[in-house]
Amino acid sequence: MAKARILVVEDEKDILDLIEMNLEREGYKVKCVENGEDCIKAAREKLPDLIILDLMLPGMDGLDVCRIIKNDSKTRHIPVIMLTAKGEESDVITGLEMGADDYMTKPFSPKVLIARVKAVLRKVSMASGDEGVIRKKDLIIDQGRREVICKGKKIDLTFTEFELLYLFSRRPGWVFTRNQIVQAVKGDGYPVTERAVDVQIVGLRKKLGESGELIETIRGVGYRFKD
Ligand code: CA
Repeated sequence: MAKARILVVEDEKDILDLIEMNLEREGYKVKCVENGEDCIKAAREKLPDLIILDLMLPGMDGLDVCRIIKNDSKTRHIPVIMLTAKGEESDVITGLEMGADDYMTKPFSPKVLIARVKAVLRKVSMASGDEGVIRKKDLIIDQGRREVICKGKKIDLTFTEFELLYLFSRRPGWVFTRNQIVQAVKGDGYPVTERAVDVQIVGLRKKLGESGELIETIRGVGYRFKD
């Protein structure tokens, strides 16, 4: 698996450098910003796998940043670890209630930071196995919310189109035969024919625009989601 991309927001340069150095040493791809506005911009542009967010920032504070990130359908799945100074316990509670995943009180040891980062990423990857949030290039497929976001824009899919996309994207590189697809997406008393699958896929690809190319036709066999 590719190493996670981590966005770090901290206005104190020494701490920012320390965090960056330690994360990079672990192989993470790190992007550092020094204020809340840049954090939100970077989060929306690059959709990091994790945000480390200092609460005390100049201008927009960390809680506002957290609120905005957690209220935006494009970024709300990104886990957030808050950094706080002693005495900010009430802010910590507010942040956790807004959807932050964890917090650390400064000063902290780099070892503890790395352990927390790993724990949060592990938790998220396990949860996404359950709730089914799949990301591939410009696409986010969220089974829990039955939502597909493409380049930050919500795509309206029919029930069957969503089922098809979710089925394929869960096993990239795997070739599904038409019959397997029919078996997988049919509901109780809701027959689906192989021909109907083809028609649905035409519609699905159209709605996905460029990302529709992720669904490949395997001639004479069925379909495959690009690995
Ligand atoms: Ca600060």
